[in-house]
Amino acid sequence: MSFSENFDVIVVGGGHAGTEAALAAARMGQKTLLLTHNLETLGQMSCNPSIGGIGKGHLVKEIDALGGVMAEAIDDAGIQFRMLNSSKGPAVRATRAQADRVLYRQAIRRRLENQPNLWLIQQAVDDLVLQGDRVVGVITQLGVKFFAQAVILTTGTFLAGLAHVGNNNFQAGRAGDPPSISLARRLREMKLPVGRLKTGTPPRIDGRSINYPLLQEQPGDDPVPVFSFLGNVAQHPRQIACWMTRTNRQTHDIIRDGLDRSPLFTGKIEGIGPRYCPSIEDKIVRFSDRDSHTIFLEPEGLDTHEVYPNGISTSLPYDVQVNLVRSIKGLENAHITRPGYAIEYDYFDPRTLKSSLETRVIEGLFFAGQINGTTGYEEAAAQGLLAGLNASLKVQGRAAWCPRRDEAYLGVLVDDLITRGVTEPYRMFTSRAEYRLQLREDNADMRLTEIGYRLGIVSESRWRAFVLKREAIETEQEKLRKIWVRPGMLPEADLINVLGKTIEKEYSLYELLRRPDVTYAGLMALLGIEDSMTDEKVIEQVEIKVKYEGYIERQKQEVARYSVYEMTRLPKDIDYGSVRGLSSEVQQKLNQHKPETIGHAARISGITPAAISLLLVHLKRGF
Ligand code: FAD
Repeated sequence: MSFSENFDVIVVGGGHAGTEAALAAARMGQKTLLLTHNLETLGQMSCNPSIGGIGKGHLVKEIDALGGVMAEAIDDAGIQFRMLNSSKGPAVRATRAQADRVLYRQAIRRRLENQPNLWLIQQAVDDLVLQGDRVVGVITQLGVKFFAQAVILTTGTFLAGLAHVGNNNFQAGRAGDPPSISLARRLREMKLPVGRLKTGTPPRIDGRSINYPLLQEQPGDDPVPVFSFLGNVAQHPRQIACWMTRTNRQTHDIIRDGLDRSPLFTGKIEGIGPRYCPSIEDKIVRFSDRDSHTIFLEPEGLDTHEVYPNGISTSLPYDVQVNLVRSIKGLENAHITRPGYAIEYDYFDPRTLKSSLETRVIEGLFFAGQINGTTGYEEAAAQGLLAGLNASLKVQGRAAWCPRRDEAYLGVLVDDLITRGVTEPYRMFTSRAEYRLQLREDNADMRLTEIGYRLGIVSESRWRAFVLKREAIETEQEKLRKIWVRPGMLPEADLINVLGKTIEKEYSLYELLRRPDVTYAGLMALLGIEDSMTDEKVIEQVEIKVKYEGYIERQKQEVARYSVYEMTRLPKDIDYGSVRGLSSEVQQKLNQHKPETIGHAARISGITPAAISLLLVHLKRGF
C-alpha cells in the first residue's frame, strides 16, 4: 500500500545524522518524514557518552551556528564540561562534554517532536522506489510505500551489520538493535560502490563495583563551559566528576594470551577499524613497547550506575574481557554489565557523492553519516544537517550549498570525503584543516550564521541574537580604537601592572591589546572604565580578533590566492578524454571523480599541478 500523503523529504534513520537532517529539512519548510527502526532510540549514543573534543567540538559549534540541535541538546544533557587545550592558541581550543545518555536522547526527541513540518514514523526501510535513475520514495518492512522528492539515507552501522565478541558473531545494527539486511542487499544490487568498515566499543561496568578511592579524580572545568551560542550554564544538569586509571603489564599479558581468540587477529573481521580510536588489543600489539595505557572512567548518566571505560574498546572473548578489566587498579571487583564488541558494516565510497551529499548515481538520493565512511556523532550530525539542507534546496529548485575548506570544518570534512574517499573510518581533527586560525570554535557563528539565515535554515531568534553580538563586537573594537593612553597620563605602577612596562609614546587601547599579555579586563581596569561590556563572548571575540589580526590577515591572503581554483567550476558534462595533454590515468581519475571545481580536482590524489594547468587552458579555450 501507499501512504496517504506524499512528502518533500524522507530521512531514513534516527541517529545523529538522521535527526539533524530531518530537523534541517523541516526548518527549511519542507514536509519531512523521519522513518526509523525505533522511536525510543532517536539520538541514541551507540558508543561513548560524550560530545565534542578536538576537531569534533568545532563541528558541533558549526552545526549550532547553522541552527542545528546537537549543541543545544548537550547543553541540556551534559554532566561534565571541559575546555580542551585551554592553554593553547584559540584555533585548537575545543569543548567536550560528558553526556547523560537518557537526557541526551530526551533532548533530541523533544526537539524532533516539537518541530513543525516533521512527521516521525517507526518502521524499518527495506527498499527504495526508483523511477529510472531517480529516487521517488521508500518501501518499509511492512510493505508501505512512502513517496518524496528526495530521500536521505543515514543508516549508521546498521547496513549488513555484524557484531563480534571473540569467536561469536551475530547480525545487529548495534547491540540490542536489528541490522538492516534487506536495504543493504538492495543498495548492493544498485551497484553503488560498497566497502566494509568496523568499529568497536568497550564493556560497561557497574559503578558500585568500582573502588573509587584508588582512582584519580578528574573534575570538570570551573567556570563550566557552554556549547551552544544561545546556551547558558543554567541549562546544564548536575555536574559530576570522571575518574582515571591505567592498564598494566598484567592487563597486557591477559590480552596477549587472548589474541588467538580475537576476531581482529584471527581474520574473522574483514572491515578496517579507526586508526585513531583503536581497540585495546590493537594498542597492545601496535605499541608493544608501552606497558600502560590511560583509561577514563566516564559515568553514563545521573540516574544509572553504569560507567563507560574509555580506552578499552574490545572484541576479545567475554572471559578475556572480564579478566582484563579486573586486572586494572580500582576495577579488581568490577561487574561487567554489557560486554564490549566490534561491529562490521557496509559503507559507500563517498567519492561518488556531490558536495551536496547527493549521490551522483541516483538523483534525489542523499547519504549522510557513518554510511559515508565516517565515524563519530559529530561528523554524522554535521553531514546530516548539510544533507537535510541540500535535499530541501533541491526540492525548492535552488542551488546546492557546501562551505569551502576555508569557511568551515564541515567544508573540510565533505571535501576530504568526496575527493579522497576513506581507507578507514574518518574522524575530524584540527590538523585536517589548512586554515585552522580562521576555523575556530569561538567564531563558528561569525563564519556561518549569516549564510545559514540567508539559506533559510537559521531561525529569526538565533539571527537576532547573532546580529546583536556582531554589532557589540564592532562597537567594542571601535571604542578601543578611539581611546588613547598617553605617557604620564596614568601612574607608572598601574601601567607596569597591566602592560608589563611603561609607555614612551601614545597608544590606542586597540594597539595595546595586541600585546600578548595584555587583557581587555586589564585595560578597562587601568582606565577605570566601569561601563565595560559584560558579555564574555563579545570580549573573547574582540581579544582574539585584535591579537591575531596579523596572522588571520595573512591566512585570508593565502585563501584569496587559491580562491580562483575554488571558484572555477568544471562543467558536469566535460569529457576528460578530450583534454589535450592529460595522461590516460589522469583522464580516467577525473572521469571517475567528476570534480565540481578546479580546487576539488587539484586535491584528488594523483592529479598533478601540470594536469591542473592543462585543465585551466582547456577551460580558457572554451573546450
Ligand atoms: P547511527 O547513530 O548508527 O544511527 C543510525 C540510525 O538509522 C538508527 O536510528 C537506526 O535504527 C536507523 N536505521 C538503520 N537502518 C534503518 C532502516 N533500514 N530503516 C529505518 N531505520 C534505520 N564513534 C566514535 O566516534 N568513536 C567510537 O569509538 C565509536 N565506536 C562505536 C562502536 C560501536 C559498537 C558502534 C555501534 C558505534 C561506534 N561509533 C563510534 C560510531 C557512532 O556511533 C556513529 O559514528 C554515529 O552514531 C553515526 O551516526 P549515524 O547517524 O550515521 O548512525
